[in-house]
Amino acid sequence: MPQEKLLTITTTILVCWVIFIIAWERINPYRKSLPFFREGFWVDLVWYTIIQSYFLKILIFDYIIAPVKSHFDWSSFQFVSHWPVWVQVAFFLFTHDLYIYLFHRFQHSNKFFWRTHEAHHSGKEVDFLAGSRSHIAEIIINQTIEFAPIILLGAAPEVIPIKALLDAMFGMFIHANVKVKMGKLKYFINSPELHLWHHANYIEVFHANFSTKFSFWDHLFKTAYDPGHPPGNLPENWGLGYEYPKDYFLQHAFSVKRFDEKGLLKYKWFERYYNLRPNLLKRIEVMLGKAPRKAQKPAKGSPVYPLVMEEQEEKYANT
Ligand SMILES: [Zn+2]
Ligand SMILES: [Zn+2]
Repeated sequence: MPQEKLLTITTTILVCWVIFIIAWERINPYRKSLPFFREGFWVDLVWYTIIQSYFLKILIFDYIIAPVKSHFDWSSFQFVSHWPVWVQVAFFLFTHDLYIYLFHRFQHSNKFFWRTHEAHHSGKEVDFLAGSRSHIAEIIINQTIEFAPIILLGAAPEVIPIKALLDAMFGMFIHANVKVKMGKLKYFINSPELHLWHHANYIEVFHANFSTKFSFWDHLFKTAYDPGHPPGNLPENWGLGYEYPKDYFLQHAFSVKRFDEKGLLKYKWFERYYNLRPNLLKRIEVMLGKAPRKAQKPAKGSPVYPLVMEEQEEKYANT
C-alpha cells in the first residue's frame, strides 16, 4: 500500500478514535467532576502533543536513527522483512511493550530517572490527553528504542505508521476518564481501570501498574494493583504529593534543578514570564465571555515546596 494512502487511513482512524473517546468520557466518566478544559489541558495539547511531538519526531528520526542506520544497517540480514506485516507489527508491539514495562518500572525506582517521569504523573485531572505529558528525555529514550529496531532491521514501511497509531490509541484509552469493565480481558489488555490507579497518589501504586498495552506484564511480575474500586476524588488523591510547576519550560527546568516557583516571583523577569500564560488564558476566556475582566494577581511569597517533596521523592525511589 502506498505510504500516503496508509497515512490517510491511520489519521482518519485516529481522528475517529479521539471523537469516540471524548464522547465516551462525557457519557460514562470514571470521575464525574472532570471538566473538558481541565487544569493543564492547553499545556498538554499545545506544548506536549503538538510542538514537542513535532520537533522530537525530527530529532529522533533524522538526527538519531538516520545517522545510526548509516553505520548499522541490518536490513540485508532480513531478520523480519520476510514476515507478513501483521506479524512484524505484533512482534515489535510485544517486544517494545516489555521494554516499556521494565523501563517504566526502573523510572519509579531510580531517583535520577524519576525526574524524567514525574511530569507524566503531575496532572491531577487525568483524561485522554494526559498521556501526552511526557518529559523530553523520556520520549527521546523510549521512541528511539521503539523505532530504531524497526528501521535498522528493515521492517516493512507500513510498520511505523501502524505502530504509531496503536501507541496513540492505547495512550488515549488507558488515560481516558471512562468507566470500563474489561472482565477477564483485563488480565491481558491494559485499561483505565488499572492505569488511572497508576496516576493516583497512593503509596500502594507507587510501584504498581507499570504496563502500557498488555497488562499481563503486571500480573506476570506481580506488580498489579486492582482493588476493584476507584481512588478518591479529591485533588490530593491524584498526581504528585508535592507542588509541581504548571508551565512546560518550568516543568523541564524543575527536573534538572528543584526550585521554589513562588519564591522566584521576587525577580521581575520571572514574574513577567510566570504570569504570561495565565494572563493569556484569562484574555482568551474574557474574549469567549467566560471570565470577568478584572485580572486576579497570584498570591506572592508563600512557600509552596514543603519538606513533603523530598519525602515523597524518597518514597518513589525507595519504597
Ligand atoms: Zn509511572
Ligand atoms: Zn500514564
